[in-house]
Amino acid sequence: MTDFHPARSGESTDSVTRPSVMPIYQTTAFDVADLDQLGRMRSGQDAGFSYTRDGNPNHSAFGQAVAELENADAAVVCSSGMGGLAAAVLSHVKSGEHIVAARVLYGKTLQMLQELQDRFGVAVSYADATNPQSFHEAIQKTTRMAIVESLSNPLLEVCDIAELSAAVGSVPLLVDSTFTTPTLLKPMNLGADLVFHSASKYLNGHGDVMLGVVAGSTAAVNKIEQTSSIFGMNANPFDCWLALRGLRTLELRMPQISKTALAVAEFLEQHSSVEIVHYPGLKSHAQYELAQKQLANGCSGMLSFELKNGSRDAVNNLMQTLRSIPFSPTLADARTTVSYPAGTSHVHMSAEEQQALGVTPGMVRLSVGLEPAAMLINELQHAIPKIP
Ligand SMILES: *Cc1c(COP(=O)(O)O)cnc(C)c1O
Repeated sequence: MTDFHPARSGESTDSVTRPSVMPIYQTTAFDVADLDQLGRMRSGQDAGFSYTRDGNPNHSAFGQAVAELENADAAVVCSSGMGGLAAAVLSHVKSGEHIVAARVLYGKTLQMLQELQDRFGVAVSYADATNPQSFHEAIQKTTRMAIVESLSNPLLEVCDIAELSAAVGSVPLLVDSTFTTPTLLKPMNLGADLVFHSASKYLNGHGDVMLGVVAGSTAAVNKIEQTSSIFGMNANPFDCWLALRGLRTLELRMPQISKTALAVAEFLEQHSSVEIVHYPGLKSHAQYELAQKQLANGCSGMLSFELKNGSRDAVNNLMQTLRSIPFSPTLADARTTVSYPAGTSHVHMSAEEQQALGVTPGMVRLSVGLEPAAMLINELQHAIPKIP
């Protein structure tokens, strides 16, 4: 068995000039020798590219790197995370068929499922990702996909992927592993059929790219690739090039970020103004045992906490004081950022719906970055008012 590592996976530079890093193939099309070669390329006999919407060396390099790291046959790269998810879902499901999804998912993912239900006749049921039996019970004859996130947002609940995979049987299980990355979790090894990443987040890790990637079997990835091409969800070469560059340091970043996040979570947990901290590396977390087993290399950099008697105004004050940690509606940047789930990722929901998902008015979400833990703790110490 070959060992793969982010520092060297995914590139082939078999050209006359032999650049050490693959150049950016900023080209719409690729010339083809003749009709015979085109035929051989179409049938898969010859490698090669013809039109960037259908494929480009930079897509392939990044996709192959992710596939290798995820222990998958192949991967398709799309214009954004949502592009990748849409391509994955649309290629598996048609009107009249059914999806079972975790009740707690990234806000836009839930909106996409709602859209498929309201406008395209796809049935969707929701189940509890921390209760595999509920997924089993939701399966119907027409179920074509099950969707979960490895860590939920903003409560950071952990789902048992091996048990979920067993519970859904032959229904393809798609795991959104954006928060965990292949450094911390390899869902395919636990029985997942498709692994999805918003590469806009940790895989790139530098806050300057929009990309999505879906890894899986060759057959599944080919189908998704076709959908991506037909609906124009293809990625641009420069973003793929940047993402591969970012991926090189993944193995260094993720354990470091996880260590820092644990230190920050422990600090917040003992703070007199903090009601509760949600981080799977804390003993107080409901799935601590599972996290220790499934996320043995670290629990990633996402955490949330609730201020005592917290409100929108209290969180707003905190943001105004916390100048060094910017409020940014993204996550997994190199720098630490703060966000407010009730006003960003879950803003499309009513107060009751938010409450049902555990999104409270006093909840703050941190995406811990690469700064030293002591620096972040010092800044939070100064910004969170003490309850006398
Ligand atoms: C950001 C994100 C997405 C969507 O990805 P984009 O690149 O923003 O389109 C999907 N799932 C999760 C968990 C995310 O954090």
